[in-house]
Amino acid sequence: MKTVYLCPHCHANLNPNVKIILVASHRRRKGLILLSPQPGNYKYVWDEHLAEVVSPGVKVNFSCPVCHADLTSRANRDFAELFIDSPDKKPKRVLFSRKHGTHATFIEKGDVFAGYGEDVDDFERTNFFGS
Ligand SMILES: [Zn+2]
Repeated sequence: MKTVYLCPHCHANLNPNVKIILVASHRRRKGLILLSPQPGNYKYVWDEHLAEVVSPGVKVNFSCPVCHADLTSRANRDFAELFIDSPDKKPKRVLFSRKHGTHATFIEKGDVFAGYGEDVDDFERTNFFGS
C-alpha cells in the first residue's frame, strides 16, 4: 500500500505522485525539494539555487507547499516533522534531520520511534514525544 505523507498543519497530501514535495529554504533562497517516500533513502532533487548556498551541516528550513506552515518539529528543532496517513487511527509522526548531509529519520511505531539512516545512532537518546 502506498504511504501517504501529510502536512501536520493542513493535512494536504505531500506525495500525490511518488516523491514528497516540500519547500526548502536557507537565508533568502527558496525552492522545491523532492524527497523519497522510502524511509532511509536520502536521494533527493532540489532547486539548484539552494544547492549553491546549502553546505553540509547547514540547517534547512522546510515548509508545506500548500499552507506554507513551517515544518520544524516542536519536539526537536533540529528535525522537520510530517505525518503518515493512517486511515483508521491517528496519523503517525515522521521526523527527519534538517541538517544537510545528516541522514536520520524517525517514524512513530506505537510507543517508540523506529530510526532509519546511517546517522541515527547519534540521536538514540532523543525524545521525540515532546513531553
Ligand atoms: Zn500544510
